Amino acid sequence: MNVIFLGPPGAGKGTQAVRVCERLGIPQISTGDILRKAIKNQTPTGLAAKSYIDKGELVPDSVVIDIVKERLAQPDCANGYVLDGFPRTVFQAEALAEFATIDAVIDIEVSDEKLIDRLSGRRVCGTCGATSHVSVITGDTCDKCGGTWIQRDDDKAETVLSRLKVYHAQTAPLISFYTEKGLLRRIDGTQPVDVCLNEILSTLGVA
Ligand code: AMP
Repeated sequence: MNVIFLGPPGAGKGTQAVRVCERLGIPQISTGDILRKAIKNQTPTGLAAKSYIDKGELVPDSVVIDIVKERLAQPDCANGYVLDGFPRTVFQAEALAEFATIDAVIDIEVSDEKLIDRLSGRRVCGTCGATSHVSVITGDTCDKCGGTWIQRDDDKAETVLSRLKVYHAQTAPLISFYTEKGLLRRIDGTQPVDVCLNEILSTLGVA
């Protein structure tokens, strides 16, 4: 099954994508994770992407389309995958349709007000990548691996606002794009994580 997770930044796409992929035994393909890794490794793609990510803007379509095209050609994608954070523009969605067949698009919906709180309070473990929120973090270190909690540069307040603006202008049009294709499934992303997961699995017919 080939699935897209759509939704604004902070809606819980990554959190749910990990769980759905575990359940289905398919890879999660997060363009944000791939780009952050490229930045860390100072590859040419990473160096080109950094200034956009730091400002909360989208990396050029051609860069992410090439990344995804190459990734989907890997053997582990043969039985399906979850795309998390791609496509983010209609141009990317049209390009994707030329090299992939999508079975379902999960749109996780959360209001801007809640997203601002979630993103600016989000912390990521610098070692294992687990995510949490300042409202529930009790110690200085990750309870899973003991790593240090850090704030993603693009989760800082001013960048969060520009990411939301970019989402509404460039990514939200994908909701009607995929509704017209009969692929969109809406999920209320303010529900507890397990409730969301069960709804997603059931709408995918794998509960
Ligand atoms: P994410 O982790 O999905 O929130 O992505 C972090 C940042 O990476 C975004 O704010 C964009 O700058 C960049 N990015 C990730 N995916 C894409 C995409 N499909 N198109 C353009 N830029 C992207």
